[in-house]
Amino acid sequence: MHPMNLSAREILDQLVGFRSVSHVSNLDLIDWVEGYLASHGVKSYRVYNADGTKAALFANVGPEVEGGVILSGHSDVVPVEGQDWATDPFTVVERDGRLYGRGTCDMKGFVALALAAVPLALAAGVKRPLQIAISYDEEVGCTGAPPMIAQMVKTLPRAAAVVVGEPSMMRLVNGHKGGHGFAVHVQGFEVHSSLQHTGVNAIMTAARLIDWANIINAENAAKPATALGQGFVPHWTTAHVGKIQGGTAENITAKDCHFGFGFRVVPGESEEAWAQRFKDKAAEIEAEIQAIRPEAAITLTQTFYVPGLVPEQNGAADHLVRRLTGDNGSEVVSYGTEAGQFQAEGYSCVVCGPGDIAQAHQPNEYLEVAQFNEAWGFMQRLVKDLAE
Ligand SMILES: [Zn+2]
Repeated sequence: MHPMNLSAREILDQLVGFRSVSHVSNLDLIDWVEGYLASHGVKSYRVYNADGTKAALFANVGPEVEGGVILSGHSDVVPVEGQDWATDPFTVVERDGRLYGRGTCDMKGFVALALAAVPLALAAGVKRPLQIAISYDEEVGCTGAPPMIAQMVKTLPRAAAVVVGEPSMMRLVNGHKGGHGFAVHVQGFEVHSSLQHTGVNAIMTAARLIDWANIINAENAAKPATALGQGFVPHWTTAHVGKIQGGTAENITAKDCHFGFGFRVVPGESEEAWAQRFKDKAAEIEAEIQAIRPEAAITLTQTFYVPGLVPEQNGAADHLVRRLTGDNGSEVVSYGTEAGQFQAEGYSCVVCGPGDIAQAHQPNEYLEVAQFNEAWGFMQRLVKDLAE
């Protein structure tokens, strides 16, 4: 097989062309990446989802030894439906120093650069490997990465550092909040509202749980920032309800109410502990409504769980990215990434990638050409570093 010698920009064109929106299969993209890597003699490993419609892919480039660097990105993008795009979202259009297209910023730009670094690493004869990790379903709760990471731990020599290339304007991000979310179903009991004391109103019951979020938010906001929490905006753990649905008529106690409940947890606090407090509160209210009607219930289904990224003290990934970017500061962000999931498996991990997170998920999403070029410089310095 002839090596596919493509520039990072040409690879980006290919990747954006795959409509790998989270709710559809990403296998055509993964096939292409596998073919690209194979053309350079690099073996890929796939980790499929339960129904086999999606796969994560990882690979080791260079010698099979410990101490390498993982470049991690996700293959999925958010939908374009309902967004007003000036150009075809699945074709990269370069204009005014910007690369327009769905996923250019979040985060096929970084994945393209990582893949373009593969032949570079091989030509440089790296002494420590470059490892590539491409997940799926990042945009729908970061559910694709954990099985991939578990498989990487078993299959590849242990890497010394992980760089998750979510858009950070190539600045070093070494901390982010964790998240834990639930779909909540309150099952009430329908009666005429004139006799509401004999029924259970699912909406009014849900309101109690939702108001608990308000109470938690106020309590947390009133507390001083912890050592790990300072730097975050806001510095406290927050609870949020963004969607609710319920009831059938003005004069009937609502039989059903559904809402989504989520925490954003500052590093140093336990996502599980917050989830447990919520479960305990739900159980307490459930006992009260079941005393009125035994059929009533509150059911919680986990929708997402993303561990936070705890800033390391002089971690290997920090050192590496400082060396390669010259960025001596560090930042923390309030959005979740797969970095916390790598850290949970014992990897030293930071976030650093091209583009502005403000562009992610937007209509007319773009990546500045200058950011793309800066990130390519990063890849070249990384390969040099691995060859030393
Ligand atoms: Zn992303």
